[in-house]
Amino acid sequence: MARPTSATIHTDALRHNLSRVRALAPRSRVMAVVKADGYGHGLERVARALQGADAFGVAALSDAERLRAAGLSQPIVLLSGFNEADDIPQLRRLNVETVVHHATQLAMLEQAVDGDPIRCWLKVDSGMHRLGFAPEAVREAHARLRAMPAVADDIVLMNHFASSDEFEGKAGGGAQTRAQMQVFADATAGLAGARSLANSAAVLGWADAHADWVRPGGALYGISVVDGTTGADFGLRPAMTLGTRLIAVNRVRKGERIGYSATWTCPEDMPVGVAAIGYGDGYPRHVPTGTPVLLNGKPTAIVGRVSMDLMTLDLRGQPDAQPGDPVQLWGEGLPVETIAAAAGTIGYELVCSITRRVRFVEA
Ligand SMILES: *Cc1c(COP(=O)(O)O)cnc(C)c1O
Repeated sequence: MARPTSATIHTDALRHNLSRVRALAPRSRVMAVVKADGYGHGLERVARALQGADAFGVAALSDAERLRAAGLSQPIVLLSGFNEADDIPQLRRLNVETVVHHATQLAMLEQAVDGDPIRCWLKVDSGMHRLGFAPEAVREAHARLRAMPAVADDIVLMNHFASSDEFEGKAGGGAQTRAQMQVFADATAGLAGARSLANSAAVLGWADAHADWVRPGGALYGISVVDGTTGADFGLRPAMTLGTRLIAVNRVRKGERIGYSATWTCPEDMPVGVAAIGYGDGYPRHVPTGTPVLLNGKPTAIVGRVSMDLMTLDLRGQPDAQPGDPVQLWGEGLPVETIAAAAGTIGYELVCSITRRVRFVEA
């Protein structure tokens, strides 16, 4: 019998979320960010569902290769840029645009004179201090790119926000994003080219940062990283439902302890269910007792440690539950953000962590 653990990917939710992004940023083109295997949802599947996007953003040339092999002809942008000179012919062969964030890349592009011009996204470090040219180096980098035969004329100017999930309005909220916008505006003032600043959180909460191109990832999968919110609060729908089934129901006596390290003690004689999912499937091991799942559509709590293949559930609220009953770990009705909060992380990490033994189903 096949393991009953599955991740259902709702392509209608992906499309809905793209139209929601378009409604929120009506004057911007949309780069759908599909890095990390479409945030764990499956790269080709996601890209086919999001063909209405104006471009795709990836973090690896191998992902661009997969998109082209799947027959997708939209513009593709390599968000972390290329790393070596040998990547440049690949960019040309796959017709991929690249972020340029470092002087070493300028030197490589200057040498790469043979072949079609490559469209470049010049990245400004406006204050996150991860990738990008320092503000005072942007003009020179732009001028050098403009002069290169290897580089197409229509350079895009971009930055990336460190904390756009903090909106303005709350006490002191949003100061870093506001400052990053100003640094970016000053560093690029007067330079020709489209502008791109906004990730998902900025699409949701920073309308004046939408500019020419928005670059949502998480929002397209229905996930919010804004503290204390879920995608539904912004009219988004979850694109993944993670589910399994009960495979055992046991009566356990008062005082008996459940699972590895015996972290939970039955307060009374009670039924305990065993569901076929664990950290070997990508469910986070470190969620505490009390973390919710939906059993037969109703909230039920995990008790004891999540193990590699299994987890144990408090069935006192559903004493008639049977092996075979459906268990939902996240999705519609149980936001992945809730589980992420219990695990001390964000929803993105959970959906990116589903392992290969989970069966992916498209709905
Ligand atoms: C990942 C990424 C995004 C998308 O971020 P979300 O929070 O998922 O919207 C946008 N831009 C860049 C440069 C990225 O690396």
